[in-house]
Amino acid sequence: MTYDNDNIFAKILRDEIPCDKVYEDDYALAFNDISPQAPTHILVIPKGLYATQDDFNTQASPDEVAGLWRAVSKVADEAGVTAGGYRTITNTGPDGGQEVPHYHVHILGGKRIGRMIPG
Ligand code: 5GP
Repeated sequence: MTYDNDNIFAKILRDEIPCDKVYEDDYALAFNDISPQAPTHILVIPKGLYATQDDFNTQASPDEVAGLWRAVSKVADEAGVTAGGYRTITNTGPDGGQEVPHYHVHILGGKRIGRMIPG
């Protein structure tokens, strides 16, 4: 998928719009979701400009891939949800319900998240 430089997470990465940042390193930025679906709802995004999970998985360097996933675990731990458990979700494309075309991992926790696919 062609990367849209005007997507909202690209603007957050460029500091053009604010976010409630919880973590940042060379590979990843994490911030609270603006519309939380659980007591903990954090988005972890790579700093590289990848539109989808598939773009990330096929085009990112091994260091970028490792960096993103190490950040996910660090963020979950710092949020205090590792012991109780949490869910990671990545929505991909229209059928997957992806709204923002910059690859991101949702971390949801702080309560029993419930069924895998609601409804
Ligand atoms: P998607 O449906 O693409 O997997 O998830 C996009 C997520 O981004 C949604 O959960 C939505 O609430 C969140 N989101 C959309 N715009 C913003 C924003 O400007 N700031 C933050 N922090 N989250 C946003």
